[in-house]
Amino acid sequence: MKAVGIDLGTTNSEVAIVENGQVRVLPGEDGDLILPSCVGFSDTGKLLVGREALRQYAAAPERTVKSIKRWMGTDHKTTLGDKEYLPHEVSAIILRALKQRAENALGSTISQAVITVPAYFTDAQRQATKTAGEIAGLEVLQIINEPTAAALAYDLRSEETERVVVYDLGGGTFDVSVVEITGEVTEVLASHGNNRLGGDDFDRLLQLHLGSLFKKQHNVDVPDDAATQARLQSAAEQVKIELSSHAFATVREAYLGNKGKTALHLETEVARADFEKLIRPLLEETLQAIDRALTDAKLEPEQIDRIILVGGSTRIPLVQQMIEEHLGQAPTDGIQPDLCVALGAALQAGVLVGESVDAILVDVIPHSLGVAAAVTTPMGLIPGYFSVIIPRNSVVPVSRSHVYSTAFDKQEIVEIEVFQGENTIAEENVPLGSYKVENLPPKPAGDIQIEVHFDFDLNGILTVTTTEKGKGQQGTLVVNNAGIQKLSSHELTKARADLESLFEFESDETIEVSAESIVDKAEIDTELATLLEGAQKLLETLDSEQAEELQDLLDQIEDAISQNSTELLELQEELEDFLYYANNNEEE
Ligand code: AMP
Repeated sequence: MKAVGIDLGTTNSEVAIVENGQVRVLPGEDGDLILPSCVGFSDTGKLLVGREALRQYAAAPERTVKSIKRWMGTDHKTTLGDKEYLPHEVSAIILRALKQRAENALGSTISQAVITVPAYFTDAQRQATKTAGEIAGLEVLQIINEPTAAALAYDLRSEETERVVVYDLGGGTFDVSVVEITGEVTEVLASHGNNRLGGDDFDRLLQLHLGSLFKKQHNVDVPDDAATQARLQSAAEQVKIELSSHAFATVREAYLGNKGKTALHLETEVARADFEKLIRPLLEETLQAIDRALTDAKLEPEQIDRIILVGGSTRIPLVQQMIEEHLGQAPTDGIQPDLCVALGAALQAGVLVGESVDAILVDVIPHSLGVAAAVTTPMGLIPGYFSVIIPRNSVVPVSRSHVYSTAFDKQEIVEIEVFQGENTIAEENVPLGSYKVENLPPKPAGDIQIEVHFDFDLNGILTVTTTEKGKGQQGTLVVNNAGIQKLSSHELTKARADLESLFEFESDETIEVSAESIVDKAEIDTELATLLEGAQKLLETLDSEQAEELQDLLDQIEDAISQNSTELLELQEELEDFLYYANNNEEE
């Protein structure tokens, strides 16, 4: 039985497999190894996953969603068309598409996977990821941390112990981990990060910057509607990526706004130095996280043998430069930073199903886990203290117990409130759940003892059990946060059936486009056909000047189609811009 490794990223996802001792990322039908983590519905209700969905994001943000990973573990609802989806339901769609991608590439059914999450993910976020996998029809063999997967991919297996810093800056999350590799054992010594920091933030900063340049040029704000702002954001991302290899980037966004009847365009240049100024404070934060991880691992920068970069955002030259200056050592390159997590996950999946890949995984818990308790001080009893049961960075799986006593005479109830975090005040940490042990016998304070047992499994799921000493009374809590629940088998079956019906609809519903127009660009055909249809309708409503402009554009598109010209894409974008502009104007 084959099992795949999946990097379920905020921005992009990949699926990889070990076959005949070799590990590789599996391409989609378009040959692309990366599947954008974007889901949407076309205007005819067809499910779109990946690049197709991303392409319509600017045009139809109301029926497209990206960066859903930022919401994992919450009950935030996303409306797509006329239906609402929870974050793990959207993730299930992405996982289902990856499963299908793997099955198409391999020609066999895939039902097992190892899925990666940022080291900083909470229990609720890990549980939501696991549930998403199950809804997608995958048995989730293990949830592993992304930096651990990356280290596995680098296959750093020398006889001597190597200490590695894994710096992972993706689209939506940042992690840094200090990993120790000895022979076949990979151990995470410490990890830190921020699960809300990444390339999306750089895009947003640049988007604001572009907005202010536009205002300077035209003395008008860029319209605040979702579609226009989405266009500006996607322009910002393109500029950012260009600045990784160029010192300057040119931005040309036509019809971004208007002043009366005059259309306004954004045409400007951004220097790499300007971009670096915008993002430097965020990158400084990541350096502090490196220092904290090193301190936790009790290591000095000089003791680090190697630095591995993971995530698309590490392609930014300033990122590499700042890390090198800070740690006095240049990062190792070799494997593409956006693929190595999937490759490592596949290696782990291979190990779990008995493929001949030999790497053993040791992982640590990212946050301390404990309960709220009262402590006796010279000033008396102070409640609400955070009593740690499993300290951060303990190797998983891990089980620990702590015994607590009643604080008051004749105390009948003890409330077990579970938290995760590092603050000594319980309330300042993330609450994971609570329950009560009731009907305690009336005894003096301190006479009743209660053992609280924490069991943290390989998937990062915490089970809390309470036993009243002497009486043996038990209470159990499986941690789930913010409304995310383990699904019952009945609920799971239903969620799977709902998901399948979406995919069935996808395969039934294909839009016909004339075959001879642009033979190699089937995907563009669908989109272009819709645009052209919209343009024809619009022509009838425009004044003569605008109608002439549009007709001219349509003529150019026709020429480009008949000559199979590469200019078509650019013209298509121009048409898209024209339609937004015209439609926005119409609403005013
Ligand atoms: P990942 O989550 O690892 O797939 O990384 C995705 C993020 O990397 C997105 O924010 C991309 O915009 C960003 N990214 C990809 N390529 C580059 C590049 N060449 N320069 C800067 N950022 C990039």
